[in-house]
Amino acid sequence: MQYFLTEEQKTIKDLARKIAEERILPVRAQLDEKEEFPWSIMKDIADSDLFRIFVPAEYEGLGYGCLELCLALEELSRACSGVAISFAVSALGSYTLIDYGSETLKRKYLPDIASGKKLAAFALTEPTAGSDASAIRTTAEKVAGGYLINGTKQFITNGGEAAVYTIIALTDKSKGTRGASAFIVDKDTPGFTFGKKEKKLGIRASATRELVFQNCLVPEENLISRPGMGFIMAMKLLDKSRPSVGAQAVGIAQGALEAAYDYTQQRVQFGQPLILQPVVQNMLADMALQVEAARSLVYAAARNVDSGKDYTESSAMAKVFASDVAMRVTTDAVQLCGGAGYMKDYPVEKMMRDAKITQIYEGSNQVLRSIIASELRKRKAANK
Ligand SMILES: Cc1cc2nc3c(=O)[nH]c(=O)nc-3n(C[C@H](O)[C@H](O)[C@H](O)COP(=O)(O)OP(=O)(O)OC[C@H]3O[C@@H](n4cnc5c(N)ncnc54)[C@H](O)[C@@H]3O)c2cc1C
Repeated sequence: MQYFLTEEQKTIKDLARKIAEERILPVRAQLDEKEEFPWSIMKDIADSDLFRIFVPAEYEGLGYGCLELCLALEELSRACSGVAISFAVSALGSYTLIDYGSETLKRKYLPDIASGKKLAAFALTEPTAGSDASAIRTTAEKVAGGYLINGTKQFITNGGEAAVYTIIALTDKSKGTRGASAFIVDKDTPGFTFGKKEKKLGIRASATRELVFQNCLVPEENLISRPGMGFIMAMKLLDKSRPSVGAQAVGIAQGALEAAYDYTQQRVQFGQPLILQPVVQNMLADMALQVEAARSLVYAAARNVDSGKDYTESSAMAKVFASDVAMRVTTDAVQLCGGAGYMKDYPVEKMMRDAKITQIYEGSNQVLRSIIASELRKRKAANK
């Protein structure tokens, strides 16, 4: 399939594939087993300038868009999506700052994120607020010298590893979502600590922790945009970043398809390689078809984001479709590898575990299906 990528886009893809094959593949099983944060691979990614993809050129980035980030993520996820997400969340943690932050804040934080010296994270979810993000309880009270933050964020990727956190907190509890605001918080701010590191089914190389704020004083200039804009900015950020989750899913599915192909080609049963069985060929063909359809939708959604036009629906579609494909394709890959596929000596059981999260985070697939349905209703009402 031709995707008409530019030479620069192909270079990004090749660079990410090189890191994936030379640096991630040899250690992915160990990272998964030991739940080890991949700091040395983050350094390789930084040295290859891939963190610069999503940062504008004025702040030492390369100023590329969503499609370029998706291309890099797909390749990294083909090897290990736990590593890929640790990289991707730096973009998630930076977008609000990039799109709405003051010049001072951008100059202070973005060059170090672009160089990979500092990782970023994004914190919206709380124990009481998952799919219903409007139920957050973390508060940011205006006091002399800034805002005093109190509350707990849950399930935060890169928590404890990132140096820079974009967090959403209520500056006016009486206004509900209109009273939420976004702040940049440095890791070493007094009153900011980390809770337990979660033990997970998949993406085990990534770190997921609680963030705990107890009278954490953040300077006023760390407020992004205006008070009350936090929820709106968070929703826009998620719309922008969902194709990246789709790309992660496509990478996982591609890796599983290739592993299943290789296995069925070399495994002999009934006197011939499994791949010669028509039923096996049908399964591989269906897997390939689904991966390609998901890739097409993800690239189209990423291009939509880069066009700046309304992308809520296309981003949700790409994330839902690609993550459902990743779950099906990885499950079929385990099936095609038989008992071996169930063992940790083969990569497909890890891919199946890793695929699951893509259906859950950045808006669960059920919630996103309701967003797609609501966009359908809007289109119908507008006769479009
Ligand atoms: C590994 C991991 C990393 C994460 N990283 C981050 C991060 O970096 N930053 C961050 O802010 N958050 C992060 N999250 C949080 C993630 O976005 C939430 O887990 C997700 O939005 C779902 O929320 P929940 O877990 O509270 O599930 P719930 O909201 O409790 O939902 C439980 C189930 O009910 C379904 N459901 C809920 N509401 C509806 C509805 N209206 N209609 C139909 N079904 C519904 C859901 O689809 C789900 O199946 C992470 C989560 C995980 C597991």
